[in-house]
Amino acid sequence: MAEPKVNELMEKIVSLCKRRGFVFQSSEIYGGINGFWDYGPLGAEIKRQVKELWWNAMTRMRDDVVGLEATIIMSPQIWKASGHVDTFSDPMCDCLLTRKRFRADQIEPQSGTVYHFSGALNPRSGETLAEPFAVLLPTDKPPEKARKLAYEFYGTRGWHSVELLDERTESVENTTRFNPENGALLTEPRPFNLMLQTYVGPIQSDENIAYLRPETAQAIFAQFKNVLETSRQKVPFGIAQVGKAFRNEVTPRNFTFRSREFEQMELEFFIPPDEVVEAIHGSVAEPAGPGHPGEPQPNWGWRLWHQYWVEERVRFYEGIGLSRDTLGFHAQTPEELAHYARATTDILFKFPFSKRDAEGRVAGDELEGIAARSDFDLSQHERFSGKPMGVFDEELRTAWARLAPERQAALRDRYHQARLKYLTRTARSGDSPESIARKAQTDADGLARGQYIPHVIEPSAGVDRLILALIANAYHEEVSTDDKGKTEIRVVMRFHPRVAPVKVAVLPLLKNKPELVAKARAIRDRLRPHLAVAYDEAGSIGRRYARQDEAGTPFCVTVDFDTLGEQPELLDTVTVRLRDDGRQERLPVAGLLEWLLARIR
Ligand code: ATP
Repeated sequence: MAEPKVNELMEKIVSLCKRRGFVFQSSEIYGGINGFWDYGPLGAEIKRQVKELWWNAMTRMRDDVVGLEATIIMSPQIWKASGHVDTFSDPMCDCLLTRKRFRADQIEPQSGTVYHFSGALNPRSGETLAEPFAVLLPTDKPPEKARKLAYEFYGTRGWHSVELLDERTESVENTTRFNPENGALLTEPRPFNLMLQTYVGPIQSDENIAYLRPETAQAIFAQFKNVLETSRQKVPFGIAQVGKAFRNEVTPRNFTFRSREFEQMELEFFIPPDEVVEAIHGSVAEPAGPGHPGEPQPNWGWRLWHQYWVEERVRFYEGIGLSRDTLGFHAQTPEELAHYARATTDILFKFPFSKRDAEGRVAGDELEGIAARSDFDLSQHERFSGKPMGVFDEELRTAWARLAPERQAALRDRYHQARLKYLTRTARSGDSPESIARKAQTDADGLARGQYIPHVIEPSAGVDRLILALIANAYHEEVSTDDKGKTEIRVVMRFHPRVAPVKVAVLPLLKNKPELVAKARAIRDRLRPHLAVAYDEAGSIGRRYARQDEAGTPFCVTVDFDTLGEQPELLDTVTVRLRDDGRQERLPVAGLLEWLLARIR
């Protein structure tokens, strides 16, 4: 019943990350701090690259997305409006014996025999402690183990050398009420808010509570109007942000996969509601089938936009070396979906720790979620801030005036129903049914004036989870046998050149030949402004290649005597050795930068 050990491959990855400086435990010299990780020299390079690749793909390479860089601490009102203060919680329970904390929804169901005790009796004083306790054991285990745990439990309450009261057994199946590690009863699950709190200003009072943002998305909604007014964008368009997020996760685990401080890359892509698309274009285009739907079209509704963003994000992952077969997809079921969400597709990666089903298939764990969130977020901020969050669309106003009255009525009615549903679901104490109906009516009437609240598609990815996926995906072991028959296992990190922390290593053949060293340094200096270069002159060339393989450097450039003109026809040429197949090419130094850039961009 013990929690399965993180598998062997994961252990190797964690140890490589520390040994080569990809990821370190935060505050390690003080014993670490659970759920916090630091990126070492190689990890920091990957992190920068991943964020820049995402930023370029999402903003610079597109006309319809702009960026934002907001603060981590924002008005606490934002988290009231977003629902995080009231509902951003996980169910949590504690082991009654060890106090270890679990996320109730992550406990594997177990079966066996439960030993119940109603309390303990002190035989010397005759006093009783009426505190029930229970232990789950596999059916074939003797009851002594349960009694031993019960004695320990009452011992933690200061009741030693007691008699256990009213022992009774019960067969149970698929229960999640017991500690999977020792069988002791858990407390009832209770909600635990995941936001980390702090105080702003010198006085630590309730009015000064602020939160470290649990996601980057809300700043985008809060700044929607400012961005709209200053960027010359028009719906459909998106706002992208990369930055830190904090969650006081109950059980941080699986290395960096679930951390308490992490980074997100989020896009909020604002689209018109389907009623608006229909009013302007006559109908809403429906997805023709699975796969990428092609260039965005003005008559797309939320379904096509959602499909488009899922496929765009998969293309992004493929472009940095995560092939489709390493990924998985999970379409959230109606029970899993938030009440305002229309659809959410999670893109999964098959991590070494991902669970296998009975047939041995691995679904994977979430790398990114792409949610169709309706107009919930902007509507919430409109209500909580009292500031209008809608947009005005001239095309809609003109098209609306040309619609037949019955068409107008049908569209207005659909929009009205949707607004009514939202307003009723999120009603606050001062909202009467009449005021809700009036507001829904006003919103629906706005269509005729060209006004509406945009809907949003949200691709939300984690930087740290992606880096872990890239590291796990790159990890390869190569077995080599030397002349004496001795085998050696070498690690080669086969990063896609776009995300490799170091793109090229420049190696003089010998370090005691000043001409070779000077030439190699000159080549390094020429490449340096354009890409991450390592320079290494220590040890045999084979050892140096191996070192670079372990760091994942895709190209090694060796400067030898031919570079200096020993064979005149090879003057100013170098050998480039490719990491994945060991192939070597002779290239002129003059064309080296261009050759490298063509392979890493
Ligand atoms: P999970 O169900 O795994 O807790 P989530 O559905 O709550 O994740 P979102 O709120 O959708 O996650 O956050 C978007 C992305 O942020 C996730 O897909 C993930 O990549 C990243 N993320 C969320 N929580 C963490 C965490 N604790 N550590 C690292 N990355 C995280």
